[in-house]
Amino acid sequence: MRIFDPHIHMTSRTTDDYEAMFAAGVRALVEPAFWLGQPRTTVGSFKDYFDALIGWERFRAAQFGIRHHCTIALNPKEANDPRCTPVLDILPRYLSKDGVVAVGEVGYDSMTPEEDSAFASQLEMAVEHELPALVHTPHRDKLAGTRRTLDVVAESKIAPEFVAVDHLNEVTVKLVKDAGCWMGFSIYPDTKMDEDRMVAILKEYGTDKVLVNSAADWGRSDPLKTYKTAQAMLSAGFTESDVDKVLWQNPVDFYGQSGRLVLDELPGFSASTETFAGNSVLRGGRQ
Ligand SMILES: [Zn+2]
Repeated sequence: MRIFDPHIHMTSRTTDDYEAMFAAGVRALVEPAFWLGQPRTTVGSFKDYFDALIGWERFRAAQFGIRHHCTIALNPKEANDPRCTPVLDILPRYLSKDGVVAVGEVGYDSMTPEEDSAFASQLEMAVEHELPALVHTPHRDKLAGTRRTLDVVAESKIAPEFVAVDHLNEVTVKLVKDAGCWMGFSIYPDTKMDEDRMVAILKEYGTDKVLVNSAADWGRSDPLKTYKTAQAMLSAGFTESDVDKVLWQNPVDFYGQSGRLVLDELPGFSASTETFAGNSVLRGGRQ
């Protein structure tokens, strides 16, 4: 089984996670730029974070046999902080880099006017750079947030097939399907979507344009939720090829629209002595 996790925040995860993901079949992933929990106070903090996503984390993933890509954006939550909004000015320089396969996560957190303007201007940047957009939907007031999200997408010049609307559930899936966008689902350990609810949605809506992710980050989450959803699909009677479509081909088709996916195979962790800016993932040699 080969797995592509289309939304996971590896910066917050351990080397054990990388090894377990490789063992479960994860060979590629996308790490969206997002909020780090601790509020950032300067544009320089974003710059270093973006550089780490296209540099160090990409290198670190490769050491464990996994192809790493990222999306770059000013996230909805920090779009409300005037200390952070000048980040919008430095985005174009990142959006032209290798390894950046979409603009994201953009969208709404609390649905403020500041979020409106950051969202619309970043959709415009996606169009200019011919990149897809990964859109976060709010965890509170999800239905209203998803409606408003789709209105902003419709008013922008971005094509619906270039947009993935993420963190969907039974209440919001149909709106997004009818709009012609990709449908993203984050599978969490104990809240929101779980594997069985995901399988029920796949039975009802089919496998086209569906993206399943773990969204694992610094909160309680599980980087193997993609694998566990694949197992739940097989137990429910879906075929190996259905599983491959949802867990591999769909993310490849969506992010492949960037023209920047690199998917050739890597060996798993091999204690290589390769370095990035003089740093390796080995903490010194054996004594
Ligand atoms: Zn996320």
